[in-house]
Amino acid sequence: MTAVLEVKDLTKRFRGVVALDGVSFEVRPHEVVGLIGENGAGKSTLLKVLTGIYQPDAGVVLRNGEPVTFRNSSDAARAGIGMVHQEQSLVTSVSVAENILLGAEGDAVRFGFYNWPKLNAVAQRQLDKIASAISPTTIVEKLSFAERQLVELAKAMYVEEGAQVEPVIILDEPTSVLEGAELETLFAQIDRLRQIASVIFVSHRLEEVLRVSDRVYVLKDGRSVGETDAASADIDLLHRLMVGRESSAQFYHEDEQLPVDEAPVKLQVKNLTRAGQFEDVSFDVRAGEVVGIAGVIGSGREELSRVLFGAEPSTSGSIVVDGKPVKFASPVDAVSSGFGYIPAERRIEGIADGLSVAENIFLVAPQTAAWGPFRNPKKALEIAGAWIKRLRIRTPDERTNVGNLSGGNQQKVVLAKWLNSPELEVLILDHPTRGLDVGAKEDVYIFVREQCAKGMAVVLLADSLEETIALSHTILVMRDGRIERRFDAPAGSKPKPVDLVERMV
Ligand code: ADP
Ligand code: MG
Repeated sequence: MTAVLEVKDLTKRFRGVVALDGVSFEVRPHEVVGLIGENGAGKSTLLKVLTGIYQPDAGVVLRNGEPVTFRNSSDAARAGIGMVHQEQSLVTSVSVAENILLGAEGDAVRFGFYNWPKLNAVAQRQLDKIASAISPTTIVEKLSFAERQLVELAKAMYVEEGAQVEPVIILDEPTSVLEGAELETLFAQIDRLRQIASVIFVSHRLEEVLRVSDRVYVLKDGRSVGETDAASADIDLLHRLMVGRESSAQFYHEDEQLPVDEAPVKLQVKNLTRAGQFEDVSFDVRAGEVVGIAGVIGSGREELSRVLFGAEPSTSGSIVVDGKPVKFASPVDAVSSGFGYIPAERRIEGIADGLSVAENIFLVAPQTAAWGPFRNPKKALEIAGAWIKRLRIRTPDERTNVGNLSGGNQQKVVLAKWLNSPELEVLILDHPTRGLDVGAKEDVYIFVREQCAKGMAVVLLADSLEETIALSHTILVMRDGRIERRFDAPAGSKPKPVDLVERMV
């Protein structure tokens, strides 16, 4: 059986980075193929080659057995390759039909005017293919996210008309904005799509890929490192292939959690109150200790972390470091007192697109690369280089525009920026692993353990209870603005999530 799409030894370089390093895979008729890999594995680059946006440096693409070259995305569309993009690309102010035919209105335009009945009919035909009840005349802004994704899917189906061949539909991380019932709808759609097309489903979420795919390829550092039938997949093995290291048991590096009972107290929070948000919060953090704060939305823990870092003032109470009270007017104040902070909204407070990786790293503490009053560019590059190594940031070099890095690597640059403070003594981690994939998460855990071994005091607000429990020495559960309960969490005898949940709600 000839593959509908086959890729052989595809290579794509960007200056120093080899984004694709001899990737091979095939898609068979009416098959859903999953492409799974961590952030930076090369997934988006591969898809851009398959849709003519990038030209490969080496390798071949075969469509139904014939070698093809796509100089641009119209070439790929003519070959029946349609793509649902990671970022939604619809024009929200116009109708569903206009969006479906956008850029390909040819048939439905005469003397510069739309032939509306024809336009709507062609659009309706695409919507019918995916059995969607959305009307072609609806204005897109009236639709939910999930419905918009179906319109994207219908739009991708349109490639079939020009190509006269069964299409290959590519979905790049389509689930990131969906939840619950919307996810189920999308999965049902993909399942049905199998009757009339072949599908490539791309994601960094393993469970999802296994659910919708017939066969799965694992991409790692630009190579396909594994291939398996989804039905008989060994999840642990796939996980290991993706990350390239041992998984679950050692994921949190729990055996590197050192006891801190003898260590001096570094940070004391005394009767801290911010009226209306939290009240009378007191706790100590010893050098080398991770204190995790758990609590539901409204428990006051997010507000507490903002006050600890100087982003909001307290109403009463005090913060004491090494026995001396401190008062922060702003986060920058906190940084100069040896506080490091990983903000939760990294994309917003995060990277400065257009600046280099090195420049981004020095945004918070430019003095670390200064020599007297002058900037020392050599030192700056050296320090940036050290962070790149330490956090395993995948970038050609320090001078690369941060906007060219994959999402996970951009997040690591933001981590480096906040961590690049010379006298870090206290670290406030506000959802440090949010949005990171498994490999990058583990890098953060390793980093936290290293810092603790050096005597850093850490306050952690984690995304999941599992992460809170695994990383912390001590867990404080907050409810209604107060500390409800304190748990010891020594390595080897950690509390269970249910114990915490009982106190949270
Ligand atoms: P994924 O989609 O799997 O997260 P990408 O294909 O976006 O990964 O990126 C693969 C690698 O190639 C990353 O290291 C990324 O930083 C690099 N890369 C991607 N596009 C460019 C570009 N235009 N210039 C330089 N490097 C790039
Ligand atoms: Mg991507």
